[in-house]
Amino acid sequence: MATNNFVKYADLLTVNGVDPETDKEKFVFIPAEGPYIFGKYAEGMMMTGGCPSLAVRKTVAEKLVNVAKRLQAIDPNYKLWVGYAFREMKVQQAIFEEILNEFKDQFDDEMELYERIHERIAIPTVAGHPTGGAVDVAIYDGSKGETLDFGTALDDLTTDLIYYDRDDISEEARTNRRILREAMMAEGFAPYDGEWWHFCYGDKEWAFYYKKDKALYNQVYSFEDLDIEEE
Ligand SMILES: [Zn+2]
Repeated sequence: MATNNFVKYADLLTVNGVDPETDKEKFVFIPAEGPYIFGKYAEGMMMTGGCPSLAVRKTVAEKLVNVAKRLQAIDPNYKLWVGYAFREMKVQQAIFEEILNEFKDQFDDEMELYERIHERIAIPTVAGHPTGGAVDVAIYDGSKGETLDFGTALDDLTTDLIYYDRDDISEEARTNRRILREAMMAEGFAPYDGEWWHFCYGDKEWAFYYKKDKALYNQVYSFEDLDIEEE
């Protein structure tokens, strides 16, 4: 089995907070249909909380459209499917506390405990999805009416085959993962090696990856608190 050397909680603690100016940026909804990107919750996603549709920061939405345009330059039938985006901070905290209760008696050292939890779900103070900067995405082929082969379904957390760099998935799946990653990184998103579908912009993981002093976006507590851009 591949060893886990993905981004750690301790790494994300090195990011020096959030810029309050960039954090003022509003949210927009990912449209359910469209020529470039579309939002539809991945199957079995249990962490949708009170969000009826997928929300991201405005800059993130613009970048996702640009990613889709890059993909359409490869194949005009491609679209970018957004399977998950904003998660309420209160949901993140609730899941964190559940896992904390499960693990807390197994560790004497608090940092070791937090690192173990972070492998399962991001520690709330550094979590990406509650900032509106993190997305789970895949490439959809309109000519076939299905998602390209990525080796696993998007957001399938039951298998290690979701780690980006696996040599025991098909060549086609490896290629598709690479195409997706290259298009996302070309627009400034940071990849995550632990999940082929997860990318972020403006959160602490992004700041750590690109060696920025501060993150751009802070977490938002609930869906009701979102500052949504008027149409
Ligand atoms: Zn994710």
